[in-house]
Amino acid sequence: MIEALEEIEPAYKLEPMSHGRADLRKKKPKILAVILDNCTGCAGSPACVEYCPVDSCMYWVLDTEHPPLGRIEVDPNLCIGCKLCTSKGPDGTFLEGCPWDAIEMMDVAEWESRTGVTLNP
Ligand code: SF4
Ligand code: SF4
Repeated sequence: MIEALEEIEPAYKLEPMSHGRADLRKKKPKILAVILDNCTGCAGSPACVEYCPVDSCMYWVLDTEHPPLGRIEVDPNLCIGCKLCTSKGPDGTFLEGCPWDAIEMMDVAEWESRTGVTLNP
């Protein structure tokens, strides 16, 4: 389920966080990565974050009900839709990225329609 933007983009992004370039998003992408409810946070060592080339796009959020556990989120205003964090390649191939099938690529227009939030260009 997609939550409101203010719920999925907290004021503070925690480590582990993606560290890459800040100039890769030239325009709003057609697709973006969405973290699904089955994300476990990989027990504090998220396998997905190191693949993201965008600075502070993927970041840790605390599970407030079960601290110090947490999970990964994606900043929809920074994601470039490159799919490097997912394990689903073309024609059913298996790539590096989240090994737990907890990342889905979603059509941006559909994401905006579901959340009522218009993402940055
Ligand atoms: S999205 Fe996947 S790889 Fe990343 S923290 Fe969650 S379960 Fe682990
Ligand atoms: S699709 Fe690319 S930019 Fe978006 S979260 Fe995954 S690795 Fe990062």
